[in-house]
Amino acid sequence: MKLILLGAPGAGKGTVAKMLTKIDGAVQISTGDILRGAVQAGTELGKEAEAYMKRGDLVPDELIMGIMEKRLQAPDCEKGFLLDGFPRTIAQADALKALLARLGIELDMAVNIDVPREVILDRLTTRRTCANPKCQAIYNVKSSPPKQEGVCDKCGSPVVQREDETEAAISHRLQTYSEKTAPLIGFYEKEGLLLNVSATSSDAVIAAIQAKLGL
Ligand code: AMP
Repeated sequence: MKLILLGAPGAGKGTVAKMLTKIDGAVQISTGDILRGAVQAGTELGKEAEAYMKRGDLVPDELIMGIMEKRLQAPDCEKGFLLDGFPRTIAQADALKALLARLGIELDMAVNIDVPREVILDRLTTRRTCANPKCQAIYNVKSSPPKQEGVCDKCGSPVVQREDETEAAISHRLQTYSEKTAPLIGFYEKEGLLLNVSATSSDAVIAAIQAKLGL
């Protein structure tokens, strides 16, 4: 499957993407994970992106398109991909459309995961993430804590609160989402590619996607 996952930060895009990878071998492509990996590794990309990310601002479109142009041509994308956190602006959506046309790739749909704001706020303040850039497993102090506090079940690295998950950065990220990313819902509706799912459980989102794709 070739999907875009839309939704506010904390809507569950990452969790849903990870679950979908188990269905037909499609890979999760999270621009947030790629950027956090680059920041930790201290690469040029990481140095350019870091200040934007700390503030909860979007990284410039050109940097993101540079990453995605390469990433979508990697051999592991042949079985399909789940775009998690990309596109984030109309300019990125336009550039993606042109890129996919050039590569001869057709999207199945863009899934908008619609979750109430109170749920989003609660999830983001209680979310914890594995600090290992190759793992980045997601936990929640209330609903799915690691077995041993502060230690990743999967790789044993520290489980931490992301720097952009302080209250100030969260509220800025949500404002950025409303201004810059929410308009993509209308964009993909016009393209005839939108599936809107109002659900707080990832299982319900997966079921709606499978039903729509006939899987
Ligand atoms: P995420 O993990 O998707 O919430 O992304 C974390 C941060 O990475 C965002 O707040 C942005 O600063 C940056 N980021 C991730 N994806 C994009 C994107 N497609 N466009 C611009 N900035 C992005």
